[in-house]
This record gives sequence, structure tokens and C-alpha cells, in this order.
Amino acid sequence: MWPALALMAMAALIGGLAWARRRLARLGEELGRQQRENLRLQVEQTQAMTRETGRQEALFHSMTEGVLVLDAQGRVQLVNQACRRLFNLPADVRGQTVMEAFRQHELLELTDRTLAEGRVLGAELTLARPENRSLQVNSSVFLDAQQRSQGTILVFHDVTRLRQLENTRREFVANVSHELRTPLSMIKGFVETLIDGAKDDPALCPRFLKTIEKHTDRLTYLIEDLLTISRLESGELVMNPLRVDAREVAQKVKDDLRPLADEKAVKVDNRVPEGTWVRADPDRLQQVLLNLTENALKYGRRQGEVVLAAQPAPEGQVRLWVADDGPGIPPEAQSRVFERFYRVDRARSRETGGTGLGLAIVKHIVQSHGGQVWLESVPGEGATFYFTLPAG
Ligand code: ADP
Repeated sequence: MWPALALMAMAALIGGLAWARRRLARLGEELGRQQRENLRLQVEQTQAMTRETGRQEALFHSMTEGVLVLDAQGRVQLVNQACRRLFNLPADVRGQTVMEAFRQHELLELTDRTLAEGRVLGAELTLARPENRSLQVNSSVFLDAQQRSQGTILVFHDVTRLRQLENTRREFVANVSHELRTPLSMIKGFVETLIDGAKDDPALCPRFLKTIEKHTDRLTYLIEDLLTISRLESGELVMNPLRVDAREVAQKVKDDLRPLADEKAVKVDNRVPEGTWVRADPDRLQQVLLNLTENALKYGRRQGEVVLAAQPAPEGQVRLWVADDGPGIPPEAQSRVFERFYRVDRARSRETGGTGLGLAIVKHIVQSHGGQVWLESVPGEGATFYFTLPAG
């Protein structure tokens, strides 16, 4: 009886042990699976974070604005590629102070003030190196979750082009005012002299009235040219390119300028070959040839010769030119004559009724047709103004 009971108890024990072993094995498997699962989740999270950090870094470096992050001690923490390019910084400036990395007192003052005042501040910096640049910079404090200051973040916008445009506009307005004021004060002066008695002097009166007329004409030309420039720049003056016979247009210009040519005893020769077809707005082409030929007559020599000519040019273009045998243009002025209001000889240009806008208009029109304009001149031997247009 006892052995049987003992056997039964032993069997139960062995059975229990086997069950416990199986259970333990299952538990072990379960634990292993959970550990593996946790590990997999951790790896996935780390990968996602790395991807996100990579994306943020790519965004940070592809921004067109320069970004600089400084810690609370004013040392560089982060700097993006745009900022590095703007200031021509070496590869790694992390840990350096603003003065060490940027050598800019204004920047140091700005960051100090931003930290002290705790608000967004803006300033404009002018850089001389690596090239002349104007930068608009905004700086602000960045805070942690407890609203404690962690440092400053600065964003730089390159406003060089904007400032250049503003300067050009300012200069233009100053020039226009000056150009308008000169003939106006002349007119006023002569009118006052006439009122004061010259009107009764038969010798002076007609001369003064002629001078007044000349200055009134100048004012009219100036306003016409200003309107043309403004319409060209605003795109209001639309080009209507047609197939145009360039020889015919040159002939019209030659005929229109005959009085001026006769006055200076200049021979105008239209050597544009028959069948020179270009693709251009006929009125604008006429204006280009008129401005260039009028200049050749105005600034060329008495009893000289002015030639209008053309020949085929590479890439489906036609090259046209107007040449004179006058005093020419000094080398230092050659790159500037296309600028608005630039004159080699201011007094001479005024005397001939020039506005200083003729070549600027020429350049604008030619470029609007996809062409180029340039000049060649040997002082003392004359000047030749070339331009290209698409062949028609
Ligand atoms: P302007 O109304 O003064 O003629 P332009 O823009 O037509 O203005 O020309 C600018 C300047 O270029 C002129 O004032 C003149 O000094 C110079 N210039 C233009 N064409 C000639 C030329 N054929 N020969 C010499 N100088 C010229």
C-alpha cells in the first residue's frame, strides 16, 4: 500500500515537475519574445529619430536665410550653410564667441541687447568681405520649457539687391529733378529778363524767345524719354515683333534726320543690304536706329560720314550698326554711356538738346528683343554702335 502511494506521489511530483519545467520554458520564451519586441521598438524609434533629425538638418542647411544659434554664453551652437556662405566662415565655428567667429561688433552688440531686453530686435549689417553686402538681421531669445533663456537665435536676410535698387531709384529721382529744374530755371530767367524790358528791345527779344523755345523743347523731349523708359521698365510698352525689312527702316530714319544731317553737312549712307529681314517691333527698331543715328550726327564731326549697315550674325541673328567718324568715346566712358543720364560731355549734350536717356532706351529695346548692344570706339577716329536682333 505504501509503496503504491509513494509511487503515486512520486508520479504526481514528477508530473508536477515536468509541468513546471514546461511552464518555465514557455515563460522564458515569452520573456525572450518581449525583450526582442522591445529591442525592435527601440531600434525603430531610434531610426525614426535619426531620420527626423536628418530631415531637420537638411531643412536647416537648405534655407536661403542664414541662421545662427548662440548659447547663453554667446558661443556658437549651430550655424547653417547659408550663414556660413554669407560670412565666409570656416567649416566649424561651434564653441567660438561671436567676435572670434564673425569679427562683427554690431553683431555682438545686437546679441547682448537681445539677451538683456528679451525681445525681438532687428538691425542692418554692412559687410565689406568677402564682398560688399547688406544684411537684415533679426535676433530673438530662445527659451526652455520653464521660460528660462537658453541663448539667442539670429536670422540673416541678404538685402543687397534691394538696397542697390533703392539707390538706383534715389539717384534716378535726383537726376530727373535736376534735369527738369535746369531748363525750367533757364526759361524763368529769360522770361523775367523779357518782362524787365528786353521785350521792347528788337535785337534781344527774338533771341530770348528762341532760347525759351529751345529749353521748352528740351523739357518735352525729356518727359517723352522718361515716359518711354518708364513704360519699357514696367512692361507696359509691349513689343510686337514682326518680320521687318531693316533696310527700309534705316532709309526712313535717314530721311527723317535729313535736316540735322544737312545742317552739319554730314553724308548719311544707308548700307543695310537689300533683303535684310529681322524679327522686331517696327516702331521700336526705328526708335533704336533713330537714337543711334541722331547721336552719330550730334556728336560726330561736321562734314563727316555716318554709315548704317547690317550683316548676318551667328545663331540666327542679324548684326546692325551705326558708325560715325567723329571724336569717339574715351575708353573709361564706354561702359557707362548706356546708363541713364550718363554723358561724356554734359554741357555738349545739353547744348544739343540731349536728355541722357537715348542709349538707355536703345539698350532696353534691344534686350527686350533678346538682342545685345555694344560699342567700339577709337578716340579721334569715331564710334560704332552695334546691336543684334533675331533674323526675320
Ligand atoms: P544724350 O541725350 O546725351 O545724347 P545718350 O544716352 O543718347 O544721351 O548718350 C549718352 C552720351 O554718350 C552722350 O551724352 C554722349 O556723351 C555719348 N555719345 C553717344 N553717342 C555718341 C557718339 N556717336 N559719339 C560720341 N559720343 C557719343
